[in-house]
Amino acid sequence: MEKIVAGEIERYEKERIKTFLEKGLNDIGLTFHNKRVLIKPNLLSGHPPEKAITTHPLVVCAIAEILKDNLCEVFIGDSPGYESTEKVLKKAGFLEIIQSLNIKISRFDKKIVKRRDGISPYKEFTFGEDPSSFDLIFNVPKLKTHVMMGLTLGVKNTFGFIHAFDKARWHLKAGKDRELFAKVLIDIHNIVAPHITVLDGIIGMDGDGPSNGRVRTFGILCISKNAFALDHFIEKMINVPFLLPVTKVAERFSLVNEYETVIYGYPKIEDFILPNIINTDWNLPSSIKTLLRNLFIKKPKLKKDKCKKCSICKNVCPASAIYLSEEHIEFDYKKCIRCYCCQEMCPNNAIKI
Ligand code: SF4
Ligand code: SF4
Repeated sequence: MEKIVAGEIERYEKERIKTFLEKGLNDIGLTFHNKRVLIKPNLLSGHPPEKAITTHPLVVCAIAEILKDNLCEVFIGDSPGYESTEKVLKKAGFLEIIQSLNIKISRFDKKIVKRRDGISPYKEFTFGEDPSSFDLIFNVPKLKTHVMMGLTLGVKNTFGFIHAFDKARWHLKAGKDRELFAKVLIDIHNIVAPHITVLDGIIGMDGDGPSNGRVRTFGILCISKNAFALDHFIEKMINVPFLLPVTKVAERFSLVNEYETVIYGYPKIEDFILPNIINTDWNLPSSIKTLLRNLFIKKPKLKKDKCKKCSICKNVCPASAIYLSEEHIEFDYKKCIRCYCCQEMCPNNAIKI
């Protein structure tokens, strides 16, 4: 049976986090000595830690210190939305830790083709880094909402292995249908096959995450070898009234192993606000699905007063559904697939859903 270790940690105090992680990793039975280890945080875009968009550097610091105490060679990496890995690491407060602990940066800028016959119809994925070149992978997501998929937790965090520009291609290919996209995320996760997932939920985000939601103190850290079980546990803990797309599909394919929980304090998380997601798993011809989507699924809209006309949304839109007019940006809703990458990546919170 899988084990999930959860602990109540109210604030980012490195020694406290480290003590909890050492205990939790021991409970879970993960051994590591003299290994080559990759830490994969959520480095969506370059924002300071208090914005809760990226994994907090002190959680990564505590993990890295534990690994260094065990003579491991430590790497950190992710493929951010539109900036370089180094730039995001700097803006998100990681540089000091990287230098003081001699952590190596993986830029996730390779092009490695990975093949797998999984649950999605797709068999080939281009990765920015090769997970099999490490002995161990620490998957370190943030507890945040995600307008398209409900939450972005352990399973979705490994989507960051997809090579930068290929992310948009996957959104375009599979993002029209949340169930299909969930299958793609699961296939990618199973290729990465992280050895451990450590969820940073000390401060996270609800509402319209993953970058423009409400920053909240949840006060939880959670560890498991199985990210499907961890995601399931978190959804129950925050009282999500129905299974979200990734967990729903994972459960259908028997990927959510039975688990037992070891609890070191249990924070009460109340009034968690999910983004307003609507199930698009309609068993209808695709032309009717598209029509219904256009009618019922929320459209991205511009907050004109906040827009700086930086074009980031236009550049990340996988459907080329955004263009710049003389005045501001405009959406072509006929092309828009409602992936909300524009809202996710806008650095000025100028797109609402
Ligand atoms: S909406 Fe945001 S990302 Fe798009 S142009 Fe305006 S400020 Fe830039
Ligand atoms: S306009 Fe926004 S929501 Fe629509 S396809 Fe482009 S990025 Fe996705």
